[in-house]
Amino acid sequence: MEGLVMKSTGSWYLVRTNDGELYRCRLRGKIKLKDLKVSNPVAVGDVVAFELEEGGESTGAIYQITERENYIIRKSTHKTAHSHIIAANIDRALLVVTLVSPRTSFGFMDRFLVTAEAYDIPVTLLYNKSDLYDAETAEYQQQILNMYAQIGYPGIICSTVSGQGLPEIQEILANHKTLFSGHSGVGKSTLINRLAPGLELKTNEISDYSDKGKHTTTYAEMFELAPDTFIIDTPGIKELGLVDIPKEELSYFFPEMRERLNLCKYYNCLHINEPNCAVLQDLKVGKISLTRYESYRSIMDETDNRR
Ligand code: GDP
Ligand code: ZN
Repeated sequence: MEGLVMKSTGSWYLVRTNDGELYRCRLRGKIKLKDLKVSNPVAVGDVVAFELEEGGESTGAIYQITERENYIIRKSTHKTAHSHIIAANIDRALLVVTLVSPRTSFGFMDRFLVTAEAYDIPVTLLYNKSDLYDAETAEYQQQILNMYAQIGYPGIICSTVSGQGLPEIQEILANHKTLFSGHSGVGKSTLINRLAPGLELKTNEISDYSDKGKHTTTYAEMFELAPDTFIIDTPGIKELGLVDIPKEELSYFFPEMRERLNLCKYYNCLHINEPNCAVLQDLKVGKISLTRYESYRSIMDETDNRR
């Protein structure tokens, strides 16, 4: 039998077959993944093969994982501990951000976008709480939206209060597996509840032990909105783990820099102070956003400090 993992607790998995039946499965023996050092071999979004367990009602044993299109992991904060796969086979990520109450920083957005580039997951930005904007804020919002849209991250201005943008979001969701992200307070839960009335969203925290004592690990959960339409919620997960990108490669994960790589004088240009750097030239004339460039430098500095 084959099914889609809808929920993982770390010890058992809720698997849904194509005809919509749900099975509670555990792992059979040890499923080893080739190059991944992770604490959980199976994650939400995985397509797995399983066998019904004898005697059990709707219980099964997973014996195989279909190769993933992509996956996101959360790095463990402990050096010794393994990383944790949050979800797999994601078609698109929706990052909910807000310009006001609270204000999402460009640094946060850009880190998320770099990570999504590294995981090969397209992102649409949802600019929520538009009902709170005055005319000036609305205009500023539109400028930000245009800037990100131009470099490959389309945006939707929305509000769970006025309902603005919700039909467009529904359209993006249809027939896909979509990950919802955003730091707390931006209205992510409210938005999901508006898009999928009837889903009772609850946080899904499970205690876990590590060498540091007790801490909580949060698992993602997938919900079916309509046939073949799933959303993945990651309660408690604010940021995707920023993948370790060598500074020489970082500009590859900024699409506006990636497309200029061949225009710089030096093939290994870091776009810091090199002569005839296309990025610096376009930064000067405003063709590259200053806030994006600042995020680039700030992520690069962090990478340096970690080495
Ligand atoms: P989460 O932490 O991202 O899941 O945020 P919540 O969904 O819990 O929402 C945080 C707060 O923002 C709540 O008080 C919501 O009622 C409020 N909120 C959510 N969406 C909107 C919106 O579009 N406009 C306004 N004005 N408030 C909103
Ligand atoms: Zn350059």
